[in-house]
This record gives sequence, C-alpha cells and structure tokens, in this order.
Amino acid sequence: MILHSHLDTNEQGHLTIGGMDTVALAKEFGTPAYIMDEAAIRARFRTYLTAARTHFGENALPAFASKALCFTEIYRIAAEEGLGIDCVSGGELYTAKRASFPAERIYFHGNNKTDADLKQALDMGVGTIVVDNADELLALDALASNAGKTQRILLRITPGIDPHTHRAIRTGNVDSKFGNAIVTGGAMEITKLALSLSNVRLVGFHCHVGSQIFDLSPFRDAADIMMRYIADVKRETGFVTEELNLGGGLAARYTEVDATVDYADAIAKIAAIVRNKAQEMDVAMPRVILEPGRSLVAEAGITLYTVGGVKEIPGFKNYISVDGGMPDNPRYALYQSEYTALIANRAADPADYRATVAGRCCESGDLIGEDMPIQRASRGDILAVLTTGAYNYSMASNYNRLPRPPVILVRDGVARVAVRRESFEDLVRNDV
Ligand SMILES: *Cc1c(COP(=O)(O)O)cnc(C)c1O
Repeated sequence: MILHSHLDTNEQGHLTIGGMDTVALAKEFGTPAYIMDEAAIRARFRTYLTAARTHFGENALPAFASKALCFTEIYRIAAEEGLGIDCVSGGELYTAKRASFPAERIYFHGNNKTDADLKQALDMGVGTIVVDNADELLALDALASNAGKTQRILLRITPGIDPHTHRAIRTGNVDSKFGNAIVTGGAMEITKLALSLSNVRLVGFHCHVGSQIFDLSPFRDAADIMMRYIADVKRETGFVTEELNLGGGLAARYTEVDATVDYADAIAKIAAIVRNKAQEMDVAMPRVILEPGRSLVAEAGITLYTVGGVKEIPGFKNYISVDGGMPDNPRYALYQSEYTALIANRAADPADYRATVAGRCCESGDLIGEDMPIQRASRGDILAVLTTGAYNYSMASNYNRLPRPPVILVRDGVARVAVRRESFEDLVRNDV
C-alpha cells in the first residue's frame, strides 16, 4: 500500500491503482491524465451513507459536494449509490440533469444565484435550495410564485467558527461572504422573513465551517451553536426545524504526515454530539444532511504526467518538469497544498531524491510541490501525484491554451474514459 489502500506496486516496481499498472495506463491514455479508482469512490460513498443512516437515523443523507469533482458519470455513480448531491451553479445542475440525477435529492447552493439559476432550479424540480441572503430569498419567492410552485428551502447560517484551516477554505466565520451570522441578528431576521413568505417552505438550516478539517472540534462547536439557534428560533417563532445540514469539511490524506481519518467513526461522534445537544436544548432531533466533497473523492484520484527534464541548480534546488501543472492542479499555487509524488515506473525504489515538481506554464509559481521527496527521474519517466481526486479536474483551466486531461475510471481491472481529453479543436470551439 502506498498512502491509500488502492495504491500499490507490482512485480515490475510500477505504481498500481486498483490493481492496474499506471505505466500501462499512461501509455494507453497519454499524459497528463487523471486516473480514479471507481471502487474506492463507491466504497467511500457507502461508508458515508451507512454511517449516516446508522448514527443519525434512516432518513439521514450524505449529499456529495460535486464542486469537488464534476462530470456526468460521477453523478450517475452518486445516484446509483443512493447519495444526494450539492450543486453550486447552473452548469453543475445541467450536468446532474444530463446524468438523470433525481432532482429531489439535489441541494442547490451558492452565495450569488442568478435569477436564471433559480429559474433553472425551479424548472428542474430541485429538491432543496439553500438560500444565502434576503435578496435571493425574495427573488426566489417571486420566481416560485410565477412558476406556481412552493420551493423547499434551507437557510445558510454562519455559526462564527474558525476551523483552523487555510483562510481561503474557511467559510463559517462571521465576516464570511456566505450566509447569515447568528451573532449579528442577521440569521433570525432572515428566518422570520422566510417564515412570512408563501412560495418558499422553510424546513431548516445549513452551515459549512470549512475544509480539510482533521479535528472534530469545529463540528462540535457548529453542532452546539446550530442546536442552540434551533432552540432560539423555536422559542421566538414557534418554528420546528425539520432538517439540519452540517456541510462538509472532513479531511483527506495527502501525505504520510496526515492522519488517516476513520470517517464512520467521525460520523458516529458528530451524531452523538448533535443528539446530546438536541437533548440539552430540548429540541426534536432534526433530519441530518452531511455534505462531504473532498473526503469522498480526493484519495481515489491520481494524476499521471510525463517527465520532460530534470534541472539541478547546485546549492539551490532540483526541478523535475512535467507535461501539466497549474492548469490541471492549481492547488499548490492557490493554497500551498501538500502532495505526495513518485516516479510511477520506479515506485518501489526509495524516494531518496528531493525535487521541486514544476509544471510547464510560463509562471514561476506553476508548481505541484517544492522540495518533495521522490525517486530519481529522467526524461520520459511517468510521474504520479497522489490524492488528486478532489478540486483538481473541477478546478482545471486551459491556461497557456493547454487542453484539459481526460478522467479515466478504473474498476475490476477495466479502465474506461469518463471524460475525454480535450483536443485543440475543443480549445477553439467558442472562438469566433
Ligand atoms: C465546498 C463545500 C462542501 C464540501 O466541502 P469539502 O471540504 O470538500 O468536504 C460542502 N458544502 C458546501 C456548502 C461547500 O461549499
């Protein structure tokens, strides 16, 4: 096993994913390419669903935060496995519809949904819209009225928590662009407004504190604050909360230094906390929705590149350049995210070399990682970056006019294309 149970080496010393030789996969599909272990994705989906139902009750639902990894087939897989999904744009809704994802299991998010987005969601029959602010609430009520509908909604609440994660992925603090803060009175105000409208049906509240969280204390704090709020709302308005959406945020393992998260155990602990709080505050236990993104798909994916050259700058650093970079993985440039890299055709060798893995773009910041422990490399080797299943393909761009890599799913010894490699013709498709 290398970092994750679906990664290993074979007798040739090549890295394998789901038992398949990555060097052969690179040959068959070209590089750069995202390779994802479908069995690992399905297994993690099931872990979440089973644990949520066991510990929160039969009607609990994990909704896959699809901004982490979005293409038609992943929605089909989520549908088959019985999960809900979280969508944040018209494009994600459109893709989910293309996959025939059951609309009633969709949660539609975002801090600035346009009228067109809201109309699209109403037309599709999206189950729940998570309303961010009062302007949106009034717009939705009017649009729903025009459509002759009453839309089920949650309100996004800002619990005011710092989950001790990177500032760019912290979302639950009072000054966040998302939601309505409890401490400022904004939350109670929008709750009363929602209850006064006739074309929205308020069923509860949503919060999401951040991402890549290892320690459960932010969830404990969120549960405490949200259940207290639910009790306050009941006292002040009589409204009984049916549903509480606790967002996502559990971490994935990127390097050997990261702990392995026991997701079923984490869900059991969060459930115990919520139950205790419900009892303490004397409110009914609501239906609970969890919204994991990263922790469902990050570990299942790897990215394969071909090494172009190795540059040693004596007394400074060593560079290994690959045929992709920030367009297919912008996370080091954005957040200095740490990754594990290895030379796939020499994966069994010791990682006794150190190198900065650089992309091919015309930017010094186009790096996959700095000073990474790795095997010695030379031109033509296959370099694998691990744990790229989340926020890589979905964040990919065409910077430097690079076509986006394909997404290949492997399962039971079979590799299939879920997203084709972009061609140069694809790049100019919209050019006039
Ligand atoms: C991004 C996001 C998630 C998923 O977060 P992860 O850290 O990937 O689990 C869930 N809910 C909302 C509202 C989000 O914005």
